[in-house]
Amino acid sequence: MSDTPPCTFVYKADPVRGAEWRGLFAELAPEVDFRIWPDVGDPARVRFLAAWQPPADLAAYTGLELLFSVGAGIDQFDLEALPAGLPLVRMVEPGIVGGMVEYATLAVLSIHRDWQTYAAQQRCEVWRALRVRPAASRRVGVLGLGVLGRAVLAQLRGLGFPCSAWSRSQHDVEGVDCYAGDAALPGFAARCDILVCLLPLTDETRGILNARLFERLPAGAALVHAGRGPHLVQQDLLDALDSGQLARAVLDVCDPEPLPPGHPYWEHPAIMLTPHIASMTQPDSAVRAVLENLRRHRAGEPLEGLVERRRGY
Ligand code: NDP
Repeated sequence: MSDTPPCTFVYKADPVRGAEWRGLFAELAPEVDFRIWPDVGDPARVRFLAAWQPPADLAAYTGLELLFSVGAGIDQFDLEALPAGLPLVRMVEPGIVGGMVEYATLAVLSIHRDWQTYAAQQRCEVWRALRVRPAASRRVGVLGLGVLGRAVLAQLRGLGFPCSAWSRSQHDVEGVDCYAGDAALPGFAARCDILVCLLPLTDETRGILNARLFERLPAGAALVHAGRGPHLVQQDLLDALDSGQLARAVLDVCDPEPLPPGHPYWEHPAIMLTPHIASMTQPDSAVRAVLENLRRHRAGEPLEGLVERRRGY
């Protein structure tokens, strides 16, 4: 970075993590004028912005060259409201990937090994063994075969689960049965004893976890949802659980967040809830990923995580 002209980089998200970013920039790219919003100085001098939500006066950032999302998703942005030519870059960094691999593996294993059943039995002082099934007899399918889906599948395959995945375009991943496109969704669903959602939220994927999809799953299947809340039609999940079509759901996301008091998910015996913590951007690896993208930007190389606005992810 030492040959670059001085530039202003603004961070606009959680200020505690912002302070960590500041320390990392001071160490790794001291020539960058790193600022934490709202201390932006002259907005016209800001060349790079990393944000969860852009500032209301984004139009005043006339010299902006790149907008980074501090998260892996970009559904929190109103894409129509962003300047047309401004590149939007989502967060692709190993810390997020590692966190999601841990979470999805934990959720799948907890379902596979009846963890919640044993927790409930313990509360009632019940000593009752359920049959232990080998991983090879439990088919796992992942909606989304992107950065996160691929890493999760690699881990689950290693544990011996037969794996499949569904994406928009056709992929070829060793040891994973790959399905692509809407027409292939029913066939994919039919072979998912545990369905894991790792899709981005777009106009096409909103509401995709619905009664139609649940009916296609084998009876007694389970859902792990770590995508975004609006993927899920909430009443359809309750109906599927109450009818027994689904046996269990592990939900990291809901709509709205936080889940309102009194919502039926809080008390539902077949639902395990976590407060959108499946994975988090890790400052150390995130700052390194951002700096690598700044280098690529300078060199005119393709950016890691550049969003295709037309497709919405
Ligand atoms: P990627 O962009 O790398 O991958 C997205 C995948 O979804 C791709 O395989 C893509 O298909 C597929 N996809 C997108 N639209 C469709 C569609 N209409 N039909 C079928 N497949 C589709 O994203 P990541 O893996 O990095 O992240 C995925 C999501 O995970 C994020 O957008 C976010 O919502 C969620 N997330 C949740 C976190 C949490 O803590 N709960 C943390 C981080 C992320 P194709 O390969 O053909 O392009």
